[in-house]
Amino acid sequence: MSVETFRNYINGEWVGGKTFENRNPANTDELVGLFVKGTASDVEAAAQSAECALGAWSSMPAPARGALLFKVADILERKFDQISAEMTREEGKTLPEAKGEVRRSINIFRYFAGEGSRLNGLLVPSERDRVHMFAIRKPIGVVGLITPWNFPSAIPAWKLAPALICGNTVVLKPASSAPLSAWRLVEACHEAGIPKGVVNYVAGSGGALGDALVNAAPVKAISFTGSCSVGQHLHAQAAKRQLRVQLEMGGKNPTIVLADADFGAAVENTVNAAFFSTGQKCTATSRVIVEESIYDKFLEALVERTKKLRVGDGMQPGVDIGPVVDQGQLDTILQYIEIGRKEAGEPLTGGRRLSGDGFDRGYFVEPTIFADVTENMTIAREEIFGPVLAVMRAKNFEDAMRIANNIPFGLSASLQTTNISRVFEYIYRMEAGLLTVNLPSAGVEYQLPFGGTKDSSFGPKEQGPAALDFYSDYKTVYLKY
Ligand code: NAP
Repeated sequence: MSVETFRNYINGEWVGGKTFENRNPANTDELVGLFVKGTASDVEAAAQSAECALGAWSSMPAPARGALLFKVADILERKFDQISAEMTREEGKTLPEAKGEVRRSINIFRYFAGEGSRLNGLLVPSERDRVHMFAIRKPIGVVGLITPWNFPSAIPAWKLAPALICGNTVVLKPASSAPLSAWRLVEACHEAGIPKGVVNYVAGSGGALGDALVNAAPVKAISFTGSCSVGQHLHAQAAKRQLRVQLEMGGKNPTIVLADADFGAAVENTVNAAFFSTGQKCTATSRVIVEESIYDKFLEALVERTKKLRVGDGMQPGVDIGPVVDQGQLDTILQYIEIGRKEAGEPLTGGRRLSGDGFDRGYFVEPTIFADVTENMTIAREEIFGPVLAVMRAKNFEDAMRIANNIPFGLSASLQTTNISRVFEYIYRMEAGLLTVNLPSAGVEYQLPFGGTKDSSFGPKEQGPAALDFYSDYKTVYLKY
């Protein structure tokens, strides 16, 4: 079977060049596609084309921009099965998870398409006689979008759609491990008739392209999702040019399980949050903090349930957990498991790369549980970003809250309890941007603000109405009549 080459998209043209491979992490013999390896000059050309397209795009009535975003959603919907299967093949998540993500991208485009008919400004009464005062939203200009591989469609979608509806033009740099899902969004923008130069796509190494994007003269803002180290580097670079910056980064998310929780649901929610999507969600639970009086019973049930998870190729029905995304991620996870062994002893389940029939050509890791993990251990403090769960003991609710908050991260958190007072204590005192109660810590929707606090995030929130605050600016008008 011939392998398709996916070219970069600059100024409405598909642009070729040297390529890099995108392989299936469940079976590395399978080449998903070849992608053109963009260069710094491609990024500069893309930024220039976005600058040229800005005037016409930003002066188009916002409902007309919205009509084009509705078309993008319709195109994605038509290709739903194909795009979902491609995501499983390039990223490894199971097909039902991939379908859920593509559905979400479609919903995101429709949600922000609808914003085109609102884009609320502000209208307030003046203190002065016969003065009409109001503020309108205006776009920022050319925006650079840099995205990770773990939600290879939804994250580019939740940056692209609000950027476009506000009248900005964009240069998108997708993750090298999973560039096809983002490419399909860009293809849909092209097919929908979004004018040339409004959306540009340059794949290739982040190290080579990132600085070019931040330093391209037309770029006025950067929205980044990825690791803390890259985010901090970008922030420092962007500050030199006074760019507007939005960073969504890593986490070490806790689930607190209290003795009064619905026990079965707490086990299920913890397993879901820790291991689904192979633990590669930024909102995944990597620390479960369990009240002492139910610790042993909970641990036993957790291990029993985890052992039933089926690991395999995400295209196969009945598989719960696919491979990790690539060799680098596999090496990192296995290194952390070795650190965990030294710190907390042998894991109660898991702890190995899977081998043998159906596993040897992929990056499969067993879901792994370490018990009796304490606060200062590395596996309790550093993001592993894989199917590895640290189980920690807390004396009571207060102790659990202290442990949960005692880290530099603050992305998501979950509380399992039936005590309403504890719920409110947690809501007000938990240091995280995304809180769930009696649900997994992962699994958010697009209609509300998304993002963390502390070292996990910087800048305005993404998604929901809050997304407009990053991608637009106010212009304030005082008018005497
Ligand atoms: P990453 O290594 O930081 O990469 C993210 C993006 O940045 C990729 O497109 C990457 O390109 C690019 N990049 C790499 N080096 C760069 C540089 N020097 N300058 C500019 N861009 C650069 O992160 P990842 O491994 O893809 O994703 C996993 C991380 O993302 C985890 O820490 C996870 O918690 C975080 N995450 C956070 C959220 C959130 O909303 N808070 C959501 C999802 C993921 P290449 O692919 O070419 O290296």
